[in-house]
Amino acid sequence: MKSFQQAKWPEPVIFEIGSKGRRGYSLPVLDGNLRSMLNDRYSIPENLKRKADPDLPELSEVEVARHFIRLSQMNFGVDNGFYPLGSCTMKYNPKMNDAIAALDEVRWIHPYQPEDTLQGMLKIMYKLASWLAEITGMSRFSLQPAAGANGEFTGTLMIRAYHAFNGELEQRREIIIPDSAHGTNPASASMAGFDVVIVPTDENGCVDVEALKEAVSPRTAGLMLTNPNTLGIFENKILEIEKIVHEAGGLLYYDGANLNAILGKTRPGDMGFDIVHLNLHKTFSTPHGGGGPGAGPVGVKKHLEDFLPVPLVEFDGERYYLDYDVPHTIGKIKGFYGNFEVLIRAFAYILSMGAEGLEKIAEISVLNANYLASRLSKIRGFHIPYGKDRPVKHEFVLSCSRLKSETGISAKDVAKRMLDYGVHAPTVYFPLIVKEALMIEPTETEPIEEMDKFIEVLTSISKEAYNDPEKILTAPHNTSVSLVDEVKASHPRTLCLSWRMYKKRIEKLH
Ligand SMILES: *Cc1c(COP(=O)(O)O)cnc(C)c1O
Repeated sequence: MKSFQQAKWPEPVIFEIGSKGRRGYSLPVLDGNLRSMLNDRYSIPENLKRKADPDLPELSEVEVARHFIRLSQMNFGVDNGFYPLGSCTMKYNPKMNDAIAALDEVRWIHPYQPEDTLQGMLKIMYKLASWLAEITGMSRFSLQPAAGANGEFTGTLMIRAYHAFNGELEQRREIIIPDSAHGTNPASASMAGFDVVIVPTDENGCVDVEALKEAVSPRTAGLMLTNPNTLGIFENKILEIEKIVHEAGGLLYYDGANLNAILGKTRPGDMGFDIVHLNLHKTFSTPHGGGGPGAGPVGVKKHLEDFLPVPLVEFDGERYYLDYDVPHTIGKIKGFYGNFEVLIRAFAYILSMGAEGLEKIAEISVLNANYLASRLSKIRGFHIPYGKDRPVKHEFVLSCSRLKSETGISAKDVAKRMLDYGVHAPTVYFPLIVKEALMIEPTETEPIEEMDKFIEVLTSISKEAYNDPEKILTAPHNTSVSLVDEVKASHPRTLCLSWRMYKKRIEKLH
């Protein structure tokens, strides 16, 4: 295999570069008259003025450019390599969507502008909401939530408001969640004030329906479910599950963070779900992973429309407007109207894909996942505990528990060694029901060559595990940062969160 080597710059922090008074620009000197005019007009009261200049880095343009380019070369992202991070849908995001979000007409709008000057943007939001409703089989969407977890919180607050409206909130205190669920599900349910009841997974990797029957009761407020679930398996008893929960008087919440597998094929609305959230920053093409802005729109069926957050974007046949007239609204869930820059990327993405393109996403992402699942599960030391008898959907969970017992090499060690081959590690140790889990999601954007390379990488790591485990245990070797001491790296005494903190520590050392 061709070797991979990440850049290794001895790059200082930006405060250590440059020198006092150095600048990246030069402006003409202000003419005396203009200066006094500006001073008169915009004079800042003395007591509000800073006494000393802030302690900022002072650099020339070339120093800034080199600094950040070097840092970027020591980083890894979907733009420079394979990134099979299961559950996170790290697909490649077409640059065209960024270009559209960067248009002046988009960049320079302000949420306080009068509605009449924002008709085009409101139309985009209105259309996007109606497309998402069509894609999911729901009746109305709010674009406000800022991320998946924020959407779940919105949804569970609506479950609360619905039961309160029906006078049943006192009694309905429980939300049922499968043990394979994303960690945000139980967190959101308890933030909304519910008790969480966990149902186990059966040997086929699906919700244990008998256990669900026992879990539902007059205390049930709802069920939160991901389908396909986090094992990448489609819950084929979904209609039976829907009946059990609805008959008990609960609502069904669909965690649609990863919609890749079902786009254009099936819809949560048709499966009987009452509430859905989507992660536009996963399925609908927004760069994510660095803590940047996301969007977690929430859609509902007709009977829950009156509980949606305000404002909603409405159209009266002539003009678009912000509608605050939602009778039982849970209120506002985020400032203004959502992360518009993310919404516009999703709008451009859906528009450029079209209905056929969206369906192709589902087909290719599932095909890619099955190709990898079938090849990787044949490598010595690896197997797929759930889903070996039927096709997986957009992702699958590979276990290296055999590798661990035969060679001592764990999922963590395999993940670290992968970095040496120029691929990002998959999600590890999740879901918790699989031992030594590597959760792999190739997405539809990877060419077959990239997946074949990944198969070669895992084959090679397996050989190393049986022949030269030391090489794996000391990995990564080819990355800009080598093996870190994980305990030390996350200990509050060693964590250094700011330049000021770092400087104090250094001073103490000397
Ligand atoms: C990513 C994800 C979430 C949470 O989304 P955030 O935007 O990170 O808050 C919830 N559920 C599933 C299944 C996910 O993959």
